[in-house]
Amino acid sequence: MKDIIGVYSTAASHWVGDGFPVRSLLYYGDLGERISPFLLLDNAGPMQFAPTDKRRGVGTHPHRGFETVTIVYAGEVAHADSAGNSGVIGAGDVQWMTAARGILHQEYHSEAFARQGGTLHMAQLWVNLPAKDKMSAPRYQAIVNADIPRIALPDEAGTLRVIAGDYQTTHGAAKTYSPVNVWDLQLNADKAVYLQSPATHTTILVVLQGNLTVNDQQVVAANQIVLFQHNDEQLKIHTNEATVALLLTGEPLNEPIVGQGPFVMNTQAEIRQAMVDYHAGRFGA
Ligand code: MN
Repeated sequence: MKDIIGVYSTAASHWVGDGFPVRSLLYYGDLGERISPFLLLDNAGPMQFAPTDKRRGVGTHPHRGFETVTIVYAGEVAHADSAGNSGVIGAGDVQWMTAARGILHQEYHSEAFARQGGTLHMAQLWVNLPAKDKMSAPRYQAIVNADIPRIALPDEAGTLRVIAGDYQTTHGAAKTYSPVNVWDLQLNADKAVYLQSPATHTTILVVLQGNLTVNDQQVVAANQIVLFQHNDEQLKIHTNEATVALLLTGEPLNEPIVGQGPFVMNTQAEIRQAMVDYHAGRFGA
């Protein structure tokens, strides 16, 4: 079994704009290169929103140097960016946006969801780019639920969706720049699930909702993450409640991480350049 390095939790929540009440469960500022190639994961909601005509969300802002992956579980998020991509990300859908050399975008509750109200629950993951790809062209993958391979786990334990990477012989939906697995686990209560990840990979279990026990020893609640050692390939989950979790694994990039706000590069000079380029309008409009 993979040994556990630690279990981390975030009690504090904050608002991203006025649309997304998030807990930052992963953050490179705290966990550093141990979570490479991942940088951040925000769990937004679940929260109930009353019907409104107001536009709730976050207005135009830049990103450079990494990818943002938005996984919607409930509600709808509307997106538009400076590369000309726009659309609505509905429940079960995933948007895998490669900011790379730079984009500007907006993220709002969709108009239909805002009018109707209801539960919003989404996760946003930031995946770092290798240095050689940070200044490549932006890319946009709008991945609908029906295009994400779905595996029925043994013993009616639940389902595993292969958002990226490979699960056994099943290829995931998203293209990635470095070897990464993103598996979305929707598990029933009181079930055992065994998962494998390459010993070379960073391995992180993120519990978004529910409660489970890892390797028969560590209880993990919603809004907690488990970071695993590289000593072995297998981990065991036993669900104490119905649980929604993400298993994130990836080859560490082993490159310096220098970030400021929406920019994550390899050097301070590159961060300064990102600000110059942003203020000069080189991220588009
Ligand atoms: Mn953004």
